[in-house]
Amino acid sequence: MGHRLDPYEEAKAQLRESLDILGYPEEYFEALAVPERVIQLKLLVRMDDGSTRTFIGWRSQHNSALGPYKGGVRYHPDTTMNEVIALSMWMTWKNSLAGLPYGGGKGGIRVDPRRLSRGELERLSRVYFEALSEFVGVDVDIPAPDVYTNPQVMAWYYDQYSRIKKGSFFGVVTGKPVEIGGLRARVVSTGLGVAVAAREAASRVLGGIEGARVAVQGFGNVGYYASKFLSEMGASIVAVSDSRGGIYSSKGLAIDEVSKVKQATGSVVNYKGVEKLLASSEVLELDVDILVPAAIENVITEENAERIKARIIVEGANGPTTKEGEEILTKRGVLIVPDILANAGGVIMSHIEWVNNRMGGWISEDEAKNKLVEKVRTMFNSVWDYYESKIDRDKHNMRAAAYTIAVDRVVRAMKLRGWL
Ligand code: GLU
Repeated sequence: MGHRLDPYEEAKAQLRESLDILGYPEEYFEALAVPERVIQLKLLVRMDDGSTRTFIGWRSQHNSALGPYKGGVRYHPDTTMNEVIALSMWMTWKNSLAGLPYGGGKGGIRVDPRRLSRGELERLSRVYFEALSEFVGVDVDIPAPDVYTNPQVMAWYYDQYSRIKKGSFFGVVTGKPVEIGGLRARVVSTGLGVAVAAREAASRVLGGIEGARVAVQGFGNVGYYASKFLSEMGASIVAVSDSRGGIYSSKGLAIDEVSKVKQATGSVVNYKGVEKLLASSEVLELDVDILVPAAIENVITEENAERIKARIIVEGANGPTTKEGEEILTKRGVLIVPDILANAGGVIMSHIEWVNNRMGGWISEDEAKNKLVEKVRTMFNSVWDYYESKIDRDKHNMRAAAYTIAVDRVVRAMKLRGWL
């Protein structure tokens, strides 16, 4: 780990692969790789001690052929403009693959939010959204949570925008708290989608999810709920990790207990009664059936791909596997359920929330969850069928199938609109 590969280069290499498979002309590459607009914002924030700090934030609006830009905003100390651009491109493919009427966008602020007070975080969030207010909108660009942002941050965004525009513009942001237009099912949704994708993959490769041994890297919103749903489905979560390290138990971890310890002490490593403690990177190389990277980009590379023992990798994070890492895994027959399929549950639930907001309606938690499960299952089936029937599996992984379907839909929309 510790790689700072440029995620935009990774995203472009993946795009290139799918355009080759589709046999599209070279001119399409740039037409799809270059974001429509990237906004960089200087954010001046008054700190609690009276000093002023300058932060930098971005919003990349990658492609709007299918509809308004849609994607989260991350707060992370290592975030760069190119990372945000790559993530916005991945959102374009994710939304396309899911059949949602959305283009792709992503935002980011270079900050470690764990080191800000609540008041500082609120002021930073409001300054960011105020600066963005002329570029977002219910039918223009719809942000949502991502790494280290949450419903509270979305509440500040929603409130700031609604103050400026003088109204209640629920649909300008998704992943909001339940009291102000959010859905109860949104917080669990990405993890639930990851678990459903893992179950579908396991039924094809392992003969079922029951008893499958799973390691999860990252124990934030996605990692925690993926672990929880997978253990409810009968899998055994033998290891989880966060930025401070990992824990292992051959009999399987009690996920809710681990979560309580993480809430109380800040890390899973303080959980007692585990067989051993691991470095975060070791969690990736355990002898398990399924590996779920659910943290950040570029953690599976050519340096560790050879040592990965899982038969299935389900990408809870965006962009966890590099191209070189993937080539090694493909040769070794490891199935990769790609991020744009595996973690689409979040944006699918965002769409349900947005539709609900726009109708001024309501939907029950179970109905929303059932819709999500059905959608992820259908997506998995169509990607799997394409992968089995049209993809050379010695050369390409399941990602190529997902990308090819997703990129083709965007190309067709661009052609219909006269852009290509
Ligand atoms: N941040 C999530 C993702 O990467 C969700 C985006 C959304 O709901 O708009 O897919």
